[in-house]
Amino acid sequence: MLVAHTEDRQRISLVSGWTKEQLEMLRQKHRFICPLCKKSVRLKLGTKRRWHFAHMEEKECSIKLEAESDYHLQGKEQLFHWLIDQKIQTLLEPYLPSIKQRPDIFIHYEERYYAIEYQCSPIPLSIFEKRTRSYLEKDILPIWIYGGNRLTRKSSALFSLSPIEWAALQPHASLQQNYLHYFCANTQQFFSLTNVLSLSSQTAFSPLKTERITDVSFVSLLGKALVYDDTWKATWLTIKKKWRYNVTPYSGRLQQYFNQYCYQRKISPFLYPIEAGWPTKHHQWLETAPHIWQTYLLIHLTAYPIHTRFTFQDVFRFFKGLIERKLCSCRTLPYYHGHYSYAVMSYLQLLINTGFLKRTGNKEFFRVKEIQYPQSIDEAIVRDEAFIKSIKIN
Ligand SMILES: [Zn+2]
Repeated sequence: MLVAHTEDRQRISLVSGWTKEQLEMLRQKHRFICPLCKKSVRLKLGTKRRWHFAHMEEKECSIKLEAESDYHLQGKEQLFHWLIDQKIQTLLEPYLPSIKQRPDIFIHYEERYYAIEYQCSPIPLSIFEKRTRSYLEKDILPIWIYGGNRLTRKSSALFSLSPIEWAALQPHASLQQNYLHYFCANTQQFFSLTNVLSLSSQTAFSPLKTERITDVSFVSLLGKALVYDDTWKATWLTIKKKWRYNVTPYSGRLQQYFNQYCYQRKISPFLYPIEAGWPTKHHQWLETAPHIWQTYLLIHLTAYPIHTRFTFQDVFRFFKGLIERKLCSCRTLPYYHGHYSYAVMSYLQLLINTGFLKRTGNKEFFRVKEIQYPQSIDEAIVRDEAFIKSIKIN
């Protein structure tokens, strides 16, 4: 912690430019108290770590659970000064009694309140979700900024995200995109993923923006109006190709079930339909790789003969069954309105846009085509390339 109270309720913030001598004096005269749990804390003025307050016993605070590393303390302080320099109303570690939370940094900016949580250590998803929702309920927008030490890059545009990183994905105001930020206290750089697409439970596809802290403003952190261009398409085709080559007999339970499901229907899982395995506006709701859940859905649609009407409820009921049987899994996305049904709906929209389905006036659908199963991987690659031209992330 960088803030504590004295026994006479003076607030002592270590980012206020104290000298070591002044703080040593203060330490002789006063006892320090954790603003959250009211237990005694010690002022640490060592040479190795940034000066900070720590709870007396090795046990951490009974309210704020995670321990703060030096990296975390340094980063928090840098973020605090970065905001102050932009003349933004900023509080360090304030305790918000109405929700029993103490964000790292609290901001009032253009009529809105923001809570910055600089998170460098893992926390359980349940705690993440509880904290995020409690802010949102009070109309405070939480912004999770993860420690740069957590960013796991697999290749130039592929990243491995943990559930709390997925859950911190924020939709941009225009809803066409989303963002997720990291900040490295050592290099003083922001790393931002923008337009994150989901490839599997962990793997995310996104361009990475690296910027020095001095080049970033708080407003730009909330998302610049980037427009989707078509540069994602080439990478997406490579990924689709990989799914066609990567089916192994020793893969996970969900992939094994998928393989079986395909073989039972005399389809090769390598040669899943051309219409399956595409990103849509809401597909982040699902952890399962898009080519898998979309193939299930497509095969289900063939239960309705061509020109036979069905409703969204019919499709949703089938899909809900997959979730309940744990053959597909969905994500916790506290920042998003809606539900995994949005992913199903936006996929139906993709099928309408690409001429596989038609919609009638009263939200009924009917199929106008048969599924395109490629006969070989070479053929699939050529046809995927042709198909992607008709796709827009709607
Ligand atoms: Zn405490």
